[in-house]
Amino acid sequence: MRALARAIDNLDLPAVEKIAEESHEDPFEVLISTMLSAQTRDPVTAAASARLFRVARTPQTLAKLTARQIQRLIYPVSFYRHKAKHVRETCRILVDRYGGRVPGTMEELLALPGVGRKTANLVLILSFKSLKNICVDTHVHRISNRLGWVTTRTPDETEQALYKATHPRWWPYINLYLVTWGQNVCRPVYPLCGDCVIYDECARVGVTREGATTAPSPRPSAPDSARGTRAGTRRRSARRAAV
Ligand code: SF4
Repeated sequence: MRALARAIDNLDLPAVEKIAEESHEDPFEVLISTMLSAQTRDPVTAAASARLFRVARTPQTLAKLTARQIQRLIYPVSFYRHKAKHVRETCRILVDRYGGRVPGTMEELLALPGVGRKTANLVLILSFKSLKNICVDTHVHRISNRLGWVTTRTPDETEQALYKATHPRWWPYINLYLVTWGQNVCRPVYPLCGDCVIYDECARVGVTREGATTAPSPRPSAPDSARGTRAGTRRRSARRAAV
């Protein structure tokens, strides 16, 4: 895990992590952008979130939009019609039941329309600073199985198995590490095993064909102070502190 933590330092952050940085880990923006991100490529999630938040940045203002208006703003995220409906209903509940705030418990988050464990865990980790959650998406599920850490069929099974298979100090960072690695190196098809810093520790379960070796594309390094907000600095510092 330490090798992964160091290896991702110069790679692009996942879209929701970037949004969390830029919004100072605002729970509402993290919640809505994570809802939009399901089965959607990162650039599409980032652009759709930016369009939506330019028009409505609070539950109160977003709840006043029609589902059709939200659809137009978030298109072409996958399942944009369903997501628009869920986002609008969620905002109404946040206004009516929570005074416009995002609740901070798993139980309350899971009761919101369109919010599953992946979204709830990411909100708790990024915005409520929980150290007790693991957020499992398709990248975390796939890579955990390839590594041989778990043998599971669904992301929910993977989450529960990872609580047993990994040290608690890594739990809030597993999503960041494995999603970044999954987008750049351990890709769904043709993973770049020849470039992988954890090749020697990986069982490569289910990997039948590897991609041609090529170095992952780094982004230019810059001091934290030049790269983002104070929130971003905190997140990066926390990431380094775990190494
Ligand atoms: S060695 Fe290959 S399968 Fe294993 S984590 Fe690295 S890229 Fe993924």
